[in-house]
Amino acid sequence: MDNNILKAAGIIKKSKNMIALTGAGISVESGIPDFRSAGGLWDRYDPAIYASIQSFIRMPEKVWDMIFEMIEVTEGAAPNSAHFALAKLENMNYLKAVITQNIDNLHQEAGSKNVIEYHGNAKQLVCMSCGAEYGASEFDISTKEIPRCKDCRKILKPSVVFFGENIPFNALSESQKFAEAADAVLVVGTSAVVYPAAAIPRTAKSRGAALIEFNLERTELSSYADILINGSAGKTLPELVKLLEN
Ligand code: NAD
Repeated sequence: MDNNILKAAGIIKKSKNMIALTGAGISVESGIPDFRSAGGLWDRYDPAIYASIQSFIRMPEKVWDMIFEMIEVTEGAAPNSAHFALAKLENMNYLKAVITQNIDNLHQEAGSKNVIEYHGNAKQLVCMSCGAEYGASEFDISTKEIPRCKDCRKILKPSVVFFGENIPFNALSESQKFAEAADAVLVVGTSAVVYPAAAIPRTAKSRGAALIEFNLERTELSSYADILINGSAGKTLPELVKLLEN
């Protein structure tokens, strides 16, 4: 067992307001590629182009090529042991909230109750013209027919935050409150470079919280972290939970 996991368990046992910030890395073991996974979605679709709101407005049909694949990949994915470990930590009353940058709904499917979706959820679609909302499952995505608003016939957009769009106000303000009150933050599978999400652990740290980072490699946050737990989150998080159960 990694000695750093033992140290993390010691901090967590004493914590009263622990939160987690998760990123694409926690879902890689569920088969959803992060921005770096070779051969994944983002190898074929440059996120700087396909995940920008300007592109969606200018050429929605082209961006929908990527969205069809994104919905297909997320629909076919199931939570992995890292998602279940965080749900367990909430259940054990150690974890107060999961703030996720992911849009795949896997924390909720694993049983986490207090999930703040910082970048929205790909299972919902919204009409940018009249604001009508739909479940993605209301449309047969497999036909590759671009879903349109049933009222105004405009092309729908997934309820996810594209580059260039604002973070939903409630997610922003709730996360800020949790970050300011946190005494420990688990930072799991994020490169911590996409702002404002990347400010959450930095805000918490500046107010005295302990940062515990779970990643396969060092990130821009690693030099601020109190504990680095190197390895796949699907292995390291369950090990942490096991220690806390005993
Ligand atoms: P990122 O792709 O920039 O970084 C992923 C990080 O996870 C890397 O640091 C990598 O080393 C680490 N990682 C990969 N596999 C891991 C594993 N098994 N265990 C532990 N760590 C692992 O992701 P980001 O920081 O979340 O930023 C990407 C943005 O793209 C986010 O804003 C998110 O909204 C979006 N996105 C979401 C999904 C999803 O919903 N699953 C997938 C791709 C991108």
